[in-house]
Amino acid sequence: MSSSRPKPRYLASSSTSSYSASDSDLSSSASSSSVRHSMDSTQRPAVQVAVLRCLRCARAEEITSTDHPSSSGMVQIGTNIYYCNRCAKMVGYT
Ligand SMILES: [Zn+2]
Repeated sequence: MSSSRPKPRYLASSSTSSYSASDSDLSSSASSSSVRHSMDSTQRPAVQVAVLRCLRCARAEEITSTDHPSSSGMVQIGTNIYYCNRCAKMVGYT
């Protein structure tokens, strides 16, 4: 008789565990999709956008990493220091 007693117990515990398993599976799949999203965004930006600000007139110019700073009308005079074409001419950089 002892073998018939744990039978319903085992069934009940297995049904509850399958319930909680599907519940955690839902939340884990949702979190994994968000991880996939962040992986997508880290893979995508091969082109970075940088803002060059003129040191003299504070004019900002947006360039992508594939652009050369000089093609956007900015003249680099130092590390992260730029003049716009106008100011570069005034200062005598071009
Ligand atoms: Zn300027």
